[in-house]
Amino acid sequence: AKDRGKNNFQFYTLEMTEKSIERMKVERGLRHALAHDELRLHYQPQVCTDSGVVVSAEALVRWQHPEWGLVYPDRFITVAEETGLIVPIGAWVLREACLQAKTWIENDGPFGGVAVNVSARQFLDTNLFQTVKRTLAETGLNPSALELEITESAIMQDPENTLQVLHQFQGLGVRLSIDDFGTGYSSLTYLRRFPIQSVKIDRSFVIDLPGDEGSKTLVRAITALAHELKLSVIVEGVETKDQLSFLTEQKCDSLQGYMFSRPVSAEQFQQDFINSGFK
Ligand code: C2E
Ligand code: CA
Ligand code: CA
Ligand code: CA
Repeated sequence: AKDRGKNNFQFYTLEMTEKSIERMKVERGLRHALAHDELRLHYQPQVCTDSGVVVSAEALVRWQHPEWGLVYPDRFITVAEETGLIVPIGAWVLREACLQAKTWIENDGPFGGVAVNVSARQFLDTNLFQTVKRTLAETGLNPSALELEITESAIMQDPENTLQVLHQFQGLGVRLSIDDFGTGYSSLTYLRRFPIQSVKIDRSFVIDLPGDEGSKTLVRAITALAHELKLSVIVEGVETKDQLSFLTEQKCDSLQGYMFSRPVSAEQFQQDFINSGFK
């Protein structure tokens, strides 16, 4: 038994070493990516449930690595957060998304804005407010055309502090949305006090719709509560017609998911949703 314990220990440390080598590679690579313009944004349409029209987009970061190809955020966001690199990456994302949204809005269609993800680490960074303010001023994007998606877990880490930060952003005129809603533990008191405009129901509540009673109950309850608080409801991860009709019945305000489109490059988004008929 002792021997096996020892082997396990060695196996464990080997695994740890592999992990830390991978992390170091990603960290070094990310610094290089920032300096050499290897980051990209993909855009996923957000569709108005009633009209079926694409009214906005969520910006999602990708890393175009010269050897690894297109790298998805699941592989680098955690490292970026732990090393603090998420702060300069987030600033880049914000600027790129604002510039892009501005040109699409000038197209005079129904397209009205862009949603940008803000991680816990960025949100706790005291410079975030100044970065957002400066980026809006420099890009000329109307603040109401920018929505910040902040995860429920980030928001609930320190709700009193969050409340103050959210009020600052409210003063700036940007829209605020709680991402991955339902996965954390928002107190209803805070939900009422936060100056937010919308909640985004997490994909985990959509996957088993409409067959699963539990998921149905949760989506119904969250939507009713949000509407009662005058918040709009957006649902992510909509993949099937059955999900779509259930969510339409529930009067969820807007929808996002592979059913409409995967996240696509800016060029593709422009071709599919800005230049040609908006659907
Ligand atoms: P998220 O904010 O919850 O974003 C939704 C994720 O679900 C995206 O993955 C999107 O591509 C994917 N998705 C959208 N529709 C569907 C669908 O119908 N089915 C399925 N199976 N998936 C769908 P992605 O782009 O890989 O991003 C993963 C996560 O990385 C995001 O989760 C977000 O937390 C983070 N992330 C992405 N971009 C940024 C960024 O610019 N800044 C920060 N801080 N985080 C980001
Ligand atoms: Ca999001
Ligand atoms: Ca999610
Ligand atoms: Ca998320």
